[in-house]
Amino acid sequence: MILVMGGAGYIGSHTVRHLLDQGYEVIVADNLYYGHREAVDERAAFIYTDLMDLLSLDKLFTFYPIDAVIHFAAFAYVGESVAEPEKYYYNNVIGTTNLLHTMLAHNVKKIVFSSTCATYGEPQYTPIDEKHPQNPINPYGRTKLMIEQIFADYERAYGLQHIALRYFNAAGCSQDGKIGESHTPETHLIPLVLQAILGKRNLIQVFGTDYNTPDGTCIRDYIHVEDLAVAHRLALEKLGTYNGCINLGTGIGTSVKEIITAAEQVSGKKCPVEYAPRRAGDPARLFADNTKAKEILGWQPQYTDIKDIISTAWNWELKRRY
Ligand code: UDP
Repeated sequence: MILVMGGAGYIGSHTVRHLLDQGYEVIVADNLYYGHREAVDERAAFIYTDLMDLLSLDKLFTFYPIDAVIHFAAFAYVGESVAEPEKYYYNNVIGTTNLLHTMLAHNVKKIVFSSTCATYGEPQYTPIDEKHPQNPINPYGRTKLMIEQIFADYERAYGLQHIALRYFNAAGCSQDGKIGESHTPETHLIPLVLQAILGKRNLIQVFGTDYNTPDGTCIRDYIHVEDLAVAHRLALEKLGTYNGCINLGTGIGTSVKEIITAAEQVSGKKCPVEYAPRRAGDPARLFADNTKAKEILGWQPQYTDIKDIISTAWNWELKRRY
């Protein structure tokens, strides 16, 4: 049985569905701070649990025959992590050590973890491979890096089997439109653009048009959430034969202006835009070298056209359930 911590969240809920489709038995644990109960597939067991509650974690591992854990449960707002670092170090780092403490007490030694390209910080070169130096520039990125380091120590001391997946920009929604992206507050570019197109927001602010990129706007690597879900399942299946970190991105860079144009083409409507100053802490370009994911996991992203990714997000935005 696979425990998905944070399985009611955006990437977690898509991974849960994929695991179930592949025949895995899944239990979802989530504190529903940011997750949505409606996002959890009915085929999975759901337990309300908080990483700060060691007693409930212990019960979970006592009552369910858990073989491995996929751990998504974390706070993930960069700006908030700067304003309230305590919230991030407490929940993300202490929460993860609580989870590891309980796993080890129950002799569960397999974990796949949500890490991030934010652990690299300001890029020294692109595409970014896993050997790129890690110098995160905000507390959020530092919590994820610390957890990667904790895994390496626990591997040496306790034989922990771990794979940390460093995502670039997760995007899109399930192909059938059943589950999708829903953050409160929403800060991510693609849902904000689509909501501006639909008149749910007044406009989209483009943060900076004077970057050293072809059109002056920031370039990111948008990876479809269902491609991420497959990579988690492949990582789970590799535990025991490989320990370490793997980038997940398409390797393709798309600018903010290109996202807006693609969203206008997908929706057939104009997006109201305002050009605004740069947002603090945004590097000009971030995109992945995904060679390692292909070689080690045998993974290949299926969504490589940004319009296909945006189509799934548009479909969700039109009929979102939560
Ligand atoms: N962005 C923007 N306007 C917004 C939100 C985001 O111009 O309202 C830009 C942001 O500066 C970045 C890109 O869109 O270059 C992706 O931002 P997002 O917050 O989605 O992801 P991040 O790359 O920060 O993880």
